[in-house]
Amino acid sequence: MDRRSFLSAAAVAVPAANALVTGVAQAAGLSSGPAIDFKSNLPAPGSYPKKWICGSPSLMDNSDPPVQVHWYNEHTAFLRQSKAYSYEAPFAPLYFGNDRILLLDEGFTQLRNDWDLRGIVDDTIAEWGKRHGKDTSKMELLVAFSHLHADHYAAVNQFFDRPNTRYMGLTHEEMVGFWGMTNFPEEKVTLDLGGRDILIWGSPGHVISEFTYYDTYTQILFTGDMFYRGRCYISFWEPWFDSMKRIIDFMDHNPVTHVMGCHIEISNKGEDYAYGMTWQPDEAPVELTVEEFRHAYEIAKTIKEPGIYFTGAVFLCNQTRGTTTIDKNPYKY
Ligand SMILES: [Zn+2]
Repeated sequence: MDRRSFLSAAAVAVPAANALVTGVAQAAGLSSGPAIDFKSNLPAPGSYPKKWICGSPSLMDNSDPPVQVHWYNEHTAFLRQSKAYSYEAPFAPLYFGNDRILLLDEGFTQLRNDWDLRGIVDDTIAEWGKRHGKDTSKMELLVAFSHLHADHYAAVNQFFDRPNTRYMGLTHEEMVGFWGMTNFPEEKVTLDLGGRDILIWGSPGHVISEFTYYDTYTQILFTGDMFYRGRCYISFWEPWFDSMKRIIDFMDHNPVTHVMGCHIEISNKGEDYAYGMTWQPDEAPVELTVEEFRHAYEIAKTIKEPGIYFTGAVFLCNQTRGTTTIDKNPYKY
């Protein structure tokens, strides 16, 4: 979802995260309990919920929790922000390794006393540690995000005083530097969470500052807002098309179980939920198949001018303005 930032870019000094990236330096001495094997019997199976929290007809009567925490499998949680706190209702993966934990995206509400994302993340980490005999106080939490839009980083400030935590800065240079990249967007880096590798590379197009994250354990490809089940607002067509091409090339050489984006804006019948909706009773699944991605790429190849193109799975909004919705929406007011 394309939103202008309502936050001033906080002056956050973030050391380059070179030490996180394999080949530069390996994590040492951080081990906090029995080692978990993240490299055998892949992909690690997992499941999505039949239905996510998806808002309600009356926000006053909404009884959803501020965040739904869904365990995809025992070492992978997906978080979703409640529609009562933000119509964006973004998704945020939480990946656990032996030494580090990675949180990708921090929702669209800033204040901790409005919604306690930090507390929910801490509770989820504590639950995992208890289950697996890990002292999670010794593990580093990396607070990063998919791209430079406020509905994906708003609550990063809740983590500023958290011990053993590194967070991504809110400029393009800090984002790229956080992953130690020197050749964005082509360069692919490997983040070692402790036996669990996350491959990261650039995927500009929706905005310029955006990454794709591939988890080698679940083999899920997290594509942020450059490709998700909704209105993919493509601000810069050529970089976006090149980003699609890079992902296709990756899929040609690596197994991918699902593609997962940050929002859902489409019903199971393929209808568009209008911009700003806080009640989506018949949401389509957040996950997309590789075939749906490949099909969208084939359609993208034929697109020559700005406009909205439906692929059957996503809307490709080529250089339309960021809050465009589709006229045939049956839920409009
Ligand atoms: Zn978004």
